[in-house]
Amino acid sequence: QKKQPINLAETVTETIKLVRASTSAGIDIRFEISAADIWVDANGTQMQQMLLNLCTNAVQAMGEKGQLEVRLEKIGEQQARLTVRDDGPGMSEEVREHIFEPFFTTKATGRGTGMGLSVVHGIVTHHQGSIRVDSTPGEGACFEIILPLCSLRL
Ligand code: ADP
Ligand code: MG
Repeated sequence: QKKQPINLAETVTETIKLVRASTSAGIDIRFEISAADIWVDANGTQMQQMLLNLCTNAVQAMGEKGQLEVRLEKIGEQQARLTVRDDGPGMSEEVREHIFEPFFTTKATGRGTGMGLSVVHGIVTHHQGSIRVDSTPGEGACFEIILPLCSLRL
């Protein structure tokens, strides 16, 4: 659980390589990063886990084909924003209200543990960040995570 200054741009780039390598050809993965250096005080393993969980859900939701878009950018001088967007089926408001609860899943028995987003939520909280989700049923889902950047040390 230890945190240290890490370049989130590198961690995210590496994680996207893993996602690409394990995703079928019908899934178009777009990845945009706004800067080569995005330093956060964080646990690298947890950052990777967080992004993997979001991408896994997106890919599972889209099925055979679709578009996954991951974006990392700085907002102002103090925050980083990680966005994971898919064009899958999205989710109803009723489902959206429960997705961060442990063991909540809409997947068939054996296909989902319902732990992915609960873990993501825990990691975000551990890093003093915030997470929100935007989804229109039939049009996809978009998860947005905001994390504090390392404070300037002169
Ligand atoms: P699991 O993937 O094991 O079901 P998660 O905690 O990762 O558990 O996700 C909980 C639920 O949130 C999923 O079962 C699904 O209903 C919903 N969900 C998560 N991500 C997406 C997504 N990208 N598109 C549609 N539904 C999603
Ligand atoms: Mg999951």
